[in-house]
Amino acid sequence: MIEKKNCIVCNCEVIIINCHYSCENCGFSENCHDKPHLIDEE
Ligand SMILES: [Zn+2]
Repeated sequence: MIEKKNCIVCNCEVIIINCHYSCENCGFSENCHDKPHLIDEE
């Protein structure tokens, strides 16, 4: 499963693979299985 979103740190576009991404711009990485602090953008 591959999808795109924006990095929560720098807002750069990142590609999520298997629910995980690493931002090439700022180096931030995140796994969507552990995001208790994420803001719901909707
Ligand atoms: Zn970033």
